Amino acid sequence: MQLIDLNKTRDIGSSCLFAKVGSFNVLFDCGTSPKRVGYDALPAFDKLGTTVIDLVLVSHCHLDHVGSLPYIMKRQQQARVLMTQASHVILPRILNNCVSVMQLQRDELGIKEYPLYALSDIEALEQHILPMQFGKSRILRKGDDEITITFFEAGHVIGASSILVEHKHRSIFYTGDVLFRDLKILRGAKWPARKVDTVITETTRGSTPRPKGCSASNETERLVVTIRDTINGGGSVLIPAFAFGRMQEILKIISCARKENKLQQTTPIFCSGLGYGLIEDFDFIAKKLSGVNFRKKITKELKIKIFRGNNPKDIKKQIQEPSIFVLSSGMLVENTSAYNVASAIIDDHKNAICFVGFCDESTPGGELQKYSTGDSFLFKTQNYMAKIAAKIDKFDISGHADREEILKNILNMSPRAVVLVHGEENSRNWFMDELIELSPNTQIFDMNPCEAFLV
Ligand SMILES: [Zn+2]
Ligand SMILES: [Zn+2]
Repeated sequence: MQLIDLNKTRDIGSSCLFAKVGSFNVLFDCGTSPKRVGYDALPAFDKLGTTVIDLVLVSHCHLDHVGSLPYIMKRQQQARVLMTQASHVILPRILNNCVSVMQLQRDELGIKEYPLYALSDIEALEQHILPMQFGKSRILRKGDDEITITFFEAGHVIGASSILVEHKHRSIFYTGDVLFRDLKILRGAKWPARKVDTVITETTRGSTPRPKGCSASNETERLVVTIRDTINGGGSVLIPAFAFGRMQEILKIISCARKENKLQQTTPIFCSGLGYGLIEDFDFIAKKLSGVNFRKKITKELKIKIFRGNNPKDIKKQIQEPSIFVLSSGMLVENTSAYNVASAIIDDHKNAICFVGFCDESTPGGELQKYSTGDSFLFKTQNYMAKIAAKIDKFDISGHADREEILKNILNMSPRAVVLVHGEENSRNWFMDELIELSPNTQIFDMNPCEAFLV
């Protein structure tokens, strides 16, 4: 099998892996990079040359996995796109929002090529999608050749899947982004108990050991205590969160804590628009699929308001009383509501900014975590140098599995080859070293961008 990682950088980047499986030309995911803009954020589609893609297998609806799907499908209209039923429900809202953000960035940042696709391209996608049920295989044919695809629950976010591809005598297992523990709103990954030839694995947390005694549930408790103490002290809390998945999980954590009287009952809670809109989709999915525990009555129960502030000066005026802001982006990317609220509350020691997910080191969220109280931090797009007074804290309740868990589950499949993707240098190195030690007969492929590997 030939593999080419079309992600241009050795990091999270824009997930997109080309695989030639028998006569089938397959893409695993079609993302955009959260750190880049314009054409630069796309995978290296030019490396496909004249290759005609037969199948696009979509693991889940985070933009680093689906952000370039309409772009490539406009150019590969014969391809069929396989994704879970839940992803099929969520995808249009995620992509439509992406078009709005690109339009805004075109005007504000002068990125002429934005939007990279139109709403009509998202609509056109619909006719190519084959929705998949978890655990139910689908056989696809091309001439005399056939391939079998099965999706498995991957935890992580609603609709997320790990994907098994079987062709003749060989099997390939693509992990996508995976979480084994149960979230409050979604049960954890359920991988098949079987042997596979090749595992293509995410490596996001490869460089993040979990300190002894630091479990996700301890960290959740610590977050609740931080929210309670900050509000009691007359401050506000900002929790930067991905609008899809993380935001709803945090709302559920708040809801559970209120039921147990661990949090004040009347503190105003603000959410950003996309996260609020997705609540509707999650409710629809929860009614139809097992394993999802999230209903839209939470908006009434928590009296959630949609946050509409853009100008940091206006935001300051708007914060009349201690409030909880659960806003995107999770990495505090410039010009997002989380970024703007951070700039408005960071100079007051009563406030707190609580990170609850992965932040790439080069994003404002990743950078801010390296600073301490009293340091100055530049909000670049506002040209505002802020003195950090608010409490900045990080809570390890990641939506990605711990590296040891992923490794253990990979080894359970006794693969002949393991392919490392979707992680930074140190993260891949950890997996490489562990695999060499624990499974010396396994071949390990650490994919370089755009290089063809025969696996
Ligand atoms: Zn993801
Ligand atoms: Zn990802």
